Amino acid sequence: MLRTLLLEEMTWPEVEAALADGYASVVVAAGAIEQHGRHLPLLVDAVRGDRLALEVARRLGRSLVGPTIRVGCSEHHMGFPGTVSLHGDTLKAVCLDYVTSLARHGFRTVYLVPSHGGNFAPLAAMLDELRTIGAPECEVHAYTDLLEFVGLWQEAVREAAPELTRGVGGHADIAESSEMLCIRPDLVQEELAEAGYVGGFDAALAERIFGEGLRAVTPNGVLGDPRGMSREIGERCIARAADGIAAALQAVRG
Ligand SMILES: [Zn+2]
Repeated sequence: MLRTLLLEEMTWPEVEAALADGYASVVVAAGAIEQHGRHLPLLVDAVRGDRLALEVARRLGRSLVGPTIRVGCSEHHMGFPGTVSLHGDTLKAVCLDYVTSLARHGFRTVYLVPSHGGNFAPLAAMLDELRTIGAPECEVHAYTDLLEFVGLWQEAVREAAPELTRGVGGHADIAESSEMLCIRPDLVQEELAEAGYVGGFDAALAERIFGEGLRAVTPNGVLGDPRGMSREIGERCIARAADGIAAALQAVRG
């Protein structure tokens, strides 16, 4: 039994022992530092990534959790003050260096898990290169289905509080705000929570957001409605997301 699954919190002898014990996989979250409405801070996707990667690693088994990539591809959020964004090529370079570093120590699989919507497409586009240029002896898989991910949140909210399902919009919404009540409640300003764009999240909306920027769709930066957030909803969203992602990664791994 390892003291922790978090690579960052381990000593090198502990990592060496874990590798010898068959911990050959590493889960890495790809987050963001970007606006999340008036009621949530910029770091939401980074700390949600920390938690999500841990939950996914537990479900996959014999997996450690690598350092979350805290900043991601957030060009579509640059209309709001404070957002810090990477170009897709920058994120790819970081992922390449993660994979080659981990492979040199003997890890044989790296799972990339986006905790931010803007990272799904860049991760999908870079997978082939990560596999060939990164480290051919190391398998690289990523979870890349954004619409399915939003669907996991919808299922979780429907189970926990069916009347609030309409509040799932994909960004700073009932699901994400509830997760933050579980992860960093000290940073949630619940009294400032307000509805944003509530037309629902689908492929057409995603295209519009990535093309025109979020501010053109929702002036307050929210997709969905965070009102009614609760820890119970948050725990269910975290668990359902981790279940769905782990199952999808196990399926692609074969
Ligand atoms: Zn977010």
